[in-house]
Amino acid sequence: MECKRCGNQDTKYFAYDPFHENWYCRKCIAFGRINVNEPIQSKRYQTCNIQCHYELEYPLTNAQLRAMREIRLYLDQGKDVLVYAACGAGKTELVMESIMRFINQGKKVGFAISRRQVVLEIKERMAKAFPMLHVIAVCEGYTKETDGDLIVCTMHQLYRYPNAFDLLIMDEVDAFPYRGNPMLEQIAMHACQGQKLFLTATPDDAMKEHIQKGDLALVELFQRPHGFPLIVPQVIHTLPLFQYLYIVHSLHWHKREGIQVLLFVPTIESAHRMRNVLRCFFQCAVFTSKTVDKEAVIADFHQKLYDVLICTTILERGITIRGVHIIIYQADHRVFQEASLIQIIGRVGRNIQMPSGKGIFLCTRVTKDIQDCISSLQKMNESVENHDTKELIV
Ligand SMILES: [Zn+2]
Repeated sequence: MECKRCGNQDTKYFAYDPFHENWYCRKCIAFGRINVNEPIQSKRYQTCNIQCHYELEYPLTNAQLRAMREIRLYLDQGKDVLVYAACGAGKTELVMESIMRFINQGKKVGFAISRRQVVLEIKERMAKAFPMLHVIAVCEGYTKETDGDLIVCTMHQLYRYPNAFDLLIMDEVDAFPYRGNPMLEQIAMHACQGQKLFLTATPDDAMKEHIQKGDLALVELFQRPHGFPLIVPQVIHTLPLFQYLYIVHSLHWHKREGIQVLLFVPTIESAHRMRNVLRCFFQCAVFTSKTVDKEAVIADFHQKLYDVLICTTILERGITIRGVHIIIYQADHRVFQEASLIQIIGRVGRNIQMPSGKGIFLCTRVTKDIQDCISSLQKMNESVENHDTKELIV
């Protein structure tokens, strides 16, 4: 027995329906009932019948143009592509040309991302870049309209689009809940009848294997548009008590210089403990998955109402604060895996006016994840230097 939608073969997830005398899958029941061995019905959506083009606020850099040409080349060869780009390198702008070319060939394009908040953000950016297209967001709270010229949705919503897309772009494939979730992976595969374009800052081992086997073409972009190298963190190993003292001491310095700090801690409890200490000296707030008014806290931080924002890994992606420095307390905790650490350090130096900054990892021991994070960042910086030299020689 097999569920054709989620790929489940585990009998404990199948249930028998005596009225219809058939078995159905309980594993993916949240996406509507599907019977065992029932084939996936393709669903065709309207294709766009106008010719489109896109407009960017800033022109693409040479490195972005090179990456864009490579993507075009591989897609033209009929391959699936993985874009391995540093945080802040501008990967969304890179894929706009592919979106344009597919739509202009009368093909259907989808853009799927793990997190709802980012779906809404990308939808806005796409609508601005393609003013002639009807761009829609499909995610929790936005499910009334499910078809448009360009569909931006969460990975979960892909179940609505069986075999619908000729080009499916998947962003943040390294993030929860997509990473290591075979059910979502299956649903995503069923949504695409054509080619796939993956975007990530931290490819996992499975993806690296596909690249080695040649199933996936690799395009790298490690240079940020401002051309400054990625920030490599400074690692300080010391006992937790001294980590506290270090934090208070460096926050004093940063406050004097008017620099805000994002302080990452491993758990919600440690976030509240940290606030109880820091609020004696600084203006601070806590941001975790339990925070009720998330948008307001971020807006206040942007307004510089706080010296420091104490947060869990929930803020590792998507947030851009001008000129912020980061500190990780207990960076050797198991929640801080390599992918997380790279995302967190990627928050620093994103702004074109403030392209550099500081990242500090505080820990009692240097874990393999910390070492891997540092060597990945160093490799990305070296690769940028090599490209620059090559371009100079040419
Ligand atoms: Zn299923």
